[in-house]
Amino acid sequence: MKIVPEEFGKLVFNEAAMRKALSKEVFEKLEQTIKNGESLDSTLAHSVAEAMKDWAIANGATHYTHWFQPLTGITAEKHESFLNNVSSGNPILELSGKELIKGEPDASSFPSGGLRSTFEARGYTAWDPTSYAFVKGNTLCIPTAFCSYGGHALDKKTPLLRSIDALNKQALRLFKILKMDDVKHIVTNVGPEQEYFLIDKSVYEKRLDLVLTGRTLFGAPSPKGQELDDHYFGVIKPRVASFMEEVDRELWKLGIAAKTEHNEVAPSQHELANIYTTCNLACDQNQLVMEIMNKIADKHHFVILFHEKPFEGVNGSGKHNNWSISTDTGINLLSPGDTPFKNQLFLLSLAAVIKAVDDYQDLLRISVASASNDHRLGKNEAPPAIISIFLGDELTGVLKAIANDEDYESHKERIRLGSEVLPSLIKDNTDRNRTSPFAYTGNKFEFRMPGSNKGVSDANTVLNTAVAESLKTFADVLEKSDNIDKTIHSIVKYTINEHHRILFSGNGYNDAWIEEANKRGLCNYPTTPDALKHLLDEKNIRLFDYHRIFSYEELKARQEIDYENYVKSLDIEIKTMVHMSLRQIMPAISKYIGKLVKDINNIASLDTSISTSYQKNTLTKLSANLSRIDEYTTLLKDKYEETCKISDMEKQAFYIKDNLLPLMAKLRGFVDECEIMMPKETWPMPTYEELLFSEH
Ligand code: ADP
Ligand code: MG
Repeated sequence: MKIVPEEFGKLVFNEAAMRKALSKEVFEKLEQTIKNGESLDSTLAHSVAEAMKDWAIANGATHYTHWFQPLTGITAEKHESFLNNVSSGNPILELSGKELIKGEPDASSFPSGGLRSTFEARGYTAWDPTSYAFVKGNTLCIPTAFCSYGGHALDKKTPLLRSIDALNKQALRLFKILKMDDVKHIVTNVGPEQEYFLIDKSVYEKRLDLVLTGRTLFGAPSPKGQELDDHYFGVIKPRVASFMEEVDRELWKLGIAAKTEHNEVAPSQHELANIYTTCNLACDQNQLVMEIMNKIADKHHFVILFHEKPFEGVNGSGKHNNWSISTDTGINLLSPGDTPFKNQLFLLSLAAVIKAVDDYQDLLRISVASASNDHRLGKNEAPPAIISIFLGDELTGVLKAIANDEDYESHKERIRLGSEVLPSLIKDNTDRNRTSPFAYTGNKFEFRMPGSNKGVSDANTVLNTAVAESLKTFADVLEKSDNIDKTIHSIVKYTINEHHRILFSGNGYNDAWIEEANKRGLCNYPTTPDALKHLLDEKNIRLFDYHRIFSYEELKARQEIDYENYVKSLDIEIKTMVHMSLRQIMPAISKYIGKLVKDINNIASLDTSISTSYQKNTLTKLSANLSRIDEYTTLLKDKYEETCKISDMEKQAFYIKDNLLPLMAKLRGFVDECEIMMPKETWPMPTYEELLFSEH
C-alpha cells in the first residue's frame, strides 16, 4: 500500500485546513482564543462555523453532530442535517456559530449518577476547539464536552481538559522558578497501543456468550494455544493484512498516524499503535480508532474483540498508555538530556511522577478498573493489580546515589553528584521490564494497566492531576527558597527517600512480589469493587477538589456509575451463562448421554462379551457432571435473584464479586470438563480451536 501524503488528514479540519478556509484575521483570532482557553465571541464563531460547514460539505458531509464521550464509555452522536429554511422551497445549508458552540442533546438516557434530576433532563454539549472537527461518512463530527445544566461534567472529556489545565498551571510555576520564561505552556503527550482479537464473523455468531458479553463464558482450552510463541510478530495472514491496510487508510484520512501493526502473543491477537499526540487529541483519536476498526472488521467478515479477556487461559488485551510532558519550546521533561540544567528539570519531573504514582496508586488502579479488566490484571500476562514503577538500572542507580549522598558510578563514566551539578544521564538501555505496570522507557512512562476496551481519558486525567499535585508541592517549596539548586537537590532526595517503596525492578508476575508489596504497604485491589471503594477517600476528594477536576458531587456520581457498570456487565454475564446452560449445554449433554446409552445397549444386544467400558465410563462422568451443572445453574439463578433485591449499588457489586463470581467459575469448570469428553459435532457451539484459528 502506498502512503499518499495528500490523503493524510484529508477528513480533518486541522490547522492547515483552517488556515486555508478562514481569513487570516479569523484564523489568528481563533488560534489565540484556543491558546488562551477563552470562549469564542459570536461573530468569530459564526465565521468559523461557516467555513467549517463549507469544508465539510466539500468533503461529502450532509449532516453534523456534536461528538462526545458520555460516561457509558463509548462515543455518542446525534445527527442534524445542515438543511435550513426548507419551507421557502429554497433550502439552504447552514451551520450557525451557536450550533457549532453549543448543542442540547436530551441527556436523560445517559448515565449521570444522580447529577441530573429528571426535571432537568437536558444537558449541553460545548465545542472543544482543541480537538479538530472531522468528517466521518456523511457527518461532520464536532468534538464536544458534555455537561448537565447545573454545569456538572457528564463525560470523560471535561475532567481530562481540566487536568491538562491543572498540570499546565503547576508546571509553569516551575518554569518561572527555573527562569525558563520562554516556556508559555506545556503539553502532555499520549500514545496508546491498542490490542485486539479478530474472529471470523460466522464462527463468532455461533457463540452467544461472545455476542452478548464480549467474552467466552465457557470453553475448554485448545490443544494448541500460544505455547510456541509462533504468532508473536509472525507473518500476518492475507485477510488480516487487508483489514489492517484498510484501517490504516481510513485512519490516515482522519489524521491518525497508525504506525505499527503486528501480531500479538495469542493466536488471532494483534496490536495497532498510532504515533503519539497531545493528550486530549490522543484520547479522542483512540475512541475513533476503536470505532473505525469495528466498522472495517465487519466489512471483512471479522468481528473485533476489544474485551480484555475474551478467552480463558489465553493472553488478554491491554492498551499501553505512553505518556510524557513537553514544553511549547520543545523540551521533553522526561528526557534526561545531557546538561546539568536540563537534568535538574528532568530529576524534578521524575520525582514528581514517582511521588504522584505512590501517593495516588489507588486512583491509578481505579482509573483502569472494570469487570472485564479484572480478568486480565495479575494473570501472568498483564501487570498485577498492584502499582509499582520500573526505572531501569541506570536511573535507579542515580536515584540511589542521590538519596544516599554518594557518588554515582555509571557503566561509562563516573559522575559526581553535587548540589549544583546533577548527573548527566545515559539513556537507559537495559532490557525493559515487561511485567511492570508503570515503566520508564527512555523519555516517557508507559502505563500498562489500562484495558483494551476502555478509553484512556480516565487514566490520563488521574495521571495529569496527580503529577500536577506533585509539582504544586515542589513549587510551593521552591518559591520560598533562596537557593534553588540546593532546594531542588533536597526535594529530589526527599522524594526518593519518601517514596522508594513504589520502585520495583523485579518480576511483577511473581507471587513473592505480592507478599513484598504488602510488606511495603502498597495498595493491592484485585477487583473493581475493592478499588472503587477508595475513590472517595479523603485525600482523593481533596486532590480533585483543589485542582478543580471533580467536585465532590461529580466524584460521587462517577463512583455510582462505575459500580453500576460493574454490576450491569456481570448481570448480563450471569444471565447469559444460565441461558446457555439451560438451552444449549445441558440439552446437548443429555442428548449425547442418550446416544451412549443406545450404543451400550446395541453392543450388549449384539454380544455381551464386547467391552463397553469407554462408553460406560464416559456415561458415568458425563451424568455426574450434568447433575452438577444443573445444580450450579439453579444456584446461580437463585443467587442472582437475591442480588436483584439489593438496592445499594456498592453492596450489590460486592455481593456479586463474593458470591456469584465463584459460582460462575465452578459452573464453567463442570461444563468445560464435559466439552472435552464429547465429540465436536455434538457440542452446541464452536470450540476454542475454531475461534482462535478462524482468521484465515
Ligand atoms: P513499544 O516498544 O512498547 O511497542 P514504541 O516505542 O513502539 O513502544 O511506542 C509505543 C507508543 O509510544 C507509540 O504510540 C509512540 O508514538 C508512543 N511514544 C513515543 N514517544 C513518546 C513520548 N515522548 N510521549 C508519549 N508517547 C510516546
Ligand atoms: Mg508497549
